[in-house]
Amino acid sequence: MICKYKFKDFKCKETVDTDQEYCILHREFPEDPQSIEFSAVLSAKYDKVQEKISKRDYKFVGVSAGPNLTPRADPILTPLDD
Ligand SMILES: [Zn+2]
Repeated sequence: MICKYKFKDFKCKETVDTDQEYCILHREFPEDPQSIEFSAVLSAKYDKVQEKISKRDYKFVGVSAGPNLTPRADPILTPLDD
């Protein structure tokens, strides 16, 4: 399956697991930031971002970096300390 995310003329082409509608980049975060699921999603998103950057793929349309992340100019996403 392919991720269902669309925005204007952008259509995500990431493949997804059969039980998911959206790829890891476009998946919502679980509600509880302290949960194991939340850390799993966060770390999977981070890995995917690193993978895309390593392939010089800088298209991050509609990607949520999460409540505790902020984009930096370089453009690696880095968690902020409270
Ligand atoms: Zn997607």
